[in-house]
Amino acid sequence: MELWYTEKHTDSVKFSIQVDRQLYSGQSEFQRIDVFDSKEFGRFLTLDGYMMLTEKDEFIYHEMMVHVPMAVHPAVKRVLIIGGGDGGAIRELVRYPTVEHIDLVEIDELVVEVCKKHLPQTACCFNDPRVHLHFEDGLRYIRHCEDEYDLIIVDSTDPFGPGEGLFTKEFYGNCYKALKADGIMVNQHESAFYADDAIAMQRAHKRIVQSFLISKVYQAHIPTYPSGHWLFGFASKKYHPTADLNGVKWNALGLKTRYYNTRLHAGCFALPNYVEEMLRDA
Ligand code: SAM
Repeated sequence: MELWYTEKHTDSVKFSIQVDRQLYSGQSEFQRIDVFDSKEFGRFLTLDGYMMLTEKDEFIYHEMMVHVPMAVHPAVKRVLIIGGGDGGAIRELVRYPTVEHIDLVEIDELVVEVCKKHLPQTACCFNDPRVHLHFEDGLRYIRHCEDEYDLIIVDSTDPFGPGEGLFTKEFYGNCYKALKADGIMVNQHESAFYADDAIAMQRAHKRIVQSFLISKVYQAHIPTYPSGHWLFGFASKKYHPTADLNGVKWNALGLKTRYYNTRLHAGCFALPNYVEEMLRDA
């Protein structure tokens, strides 16, 4: 008998992956956690039935979340990751020897445990001595931070359930306060193609624009997310995401990446007309 994982992307669109076997299924205080194995995408993690990552395409998401701001800010030392319990953002960040301290604030400890056991490809660097884990709600944690971080990475679930608070004006305002005078925040910014995602995307953009002087959106191709076209937010107190890109310096680090490069960096902020319009109208 064939087994399929199916996610509803809209009321009339479904996305399915044939599953070889289910590796884990459990319910935490916050959400249902499942891990599957598949021929095409390898292992994948879903929360409350929504795709979080697959072994085959997670490199796109995590490289774009981390290397875009790291190639712009000249001296990132202290980083806050909110969400990100799969460890993918940490894996990319610890490749920079200049990063001194990483706080990861994940609401659900069970996500980290399950990923350590079943998704070693992303959950491989929690033991790095620079990484400090805090199991609490990012919305609450950030209220008490001030002038502390060079970079904040909001690697959250979608704007419902536990992730809802991470798309609010209060949260973005507190991220601004938690950043140093030249700090950068990047966030997973939903997508523009399907109406419900687009509404969430516009709402998030509007709120970030209200909090930050520089607020841009960039894109990547992520096959397992709804529509396959995904957006990220880049909000900053000082640096412009393309004018302040230091490609020579980043390339001199010699980091091997599979998706990100500094030519793509310049291009990923050039958005399709329909997305630009939505952002203008937000
Ligand atoms: N790449 C993923 C995506 O966009 O689909 C995000 C993956 S990561 C697993 C998201 C994490 O955010 C989850 O582990 C979830 O538990 C965590 N999370 C959700 N709401 C949170 C909150 N309020 N504070 C901290 N972490 C939160």
